[in-house]
Amino acid sequence: MRILLVEDEPLLGEAVATHLKKLHAVDWLQTLEAASGAMQAITYDLMLLDLNLPDGGGLDLLRSLRKSGQRIPVIVITARDQIRDRIEGLNSGADDYVLKPFDLDELTARIHSLQRRADAMPNPRFMIGNIEVDLAARTVWREAQEIRLTAREYAVLEYFARRLGAIVSKTKLEEALYEFGAEIESNTVEVYVSRLRKKLGSSAIRTVRGLGYRMDP
Ligand code: CA
Repeated sequence: MRILLVEDEPLLGEAVATHLKKLHAVDWLQTLEAASGAMQAITYDLMLLDLNLPDGGGLDLLRSLRKSGQRIPVIVITARDQIRDRIEGLNSGADDYVLKPFDLDELTARIHSLQRRADAMPNPRFMIGNIEVDLAARTVWREAQEIRLTAREYAVLEYFARRLGAIVSKTKLEEALYEFGAEIESNTVEVYVSRLRKKLGSSAIRTVRGLGYRMDP
């Protein structure tokens, strides 16, 4: 999952970005202008949005996104004493909010729960062929045996699991897995797909010639 974090407090931004990068690709930006620019280039899966930013209010960005029909899940980051902000945030189209200071593991849990809601996947545990995936516990089983995946391998699997039956291009996968500035080898996606096939079975991910890959439901 690729996350856009818009937060101008250096310590908080750093802490959140570092924590989330263990599992996801994160672009951390500190102004509305930078955030708007990034959103034109990249399709993000989720946005974490601070409300008071150097060049304006986060809610203005949120309102304009919703006005233009963008449904990206948004979690607003607000100060503990600003109840009005929270209400206004929810009324402006935020999906959830966290109060500063917040626990990073709780933030991660909220992100994953929001993602499942956005995907219309209320049940985090489901079967794909003979593979069982639990998106909440982040575990994968194959014929009753737990399969150990690295964080990136899991991220690739999750990307497919959330788009069963759809063709996923190499470019989209790279975009979902790596933030700006990350070094990507040209064969990175192929490497991860081949590792997953080894662990999950060679037919788990199909190659769609010239277009990308597909995981069938
Ligand atoms: Ca701020």
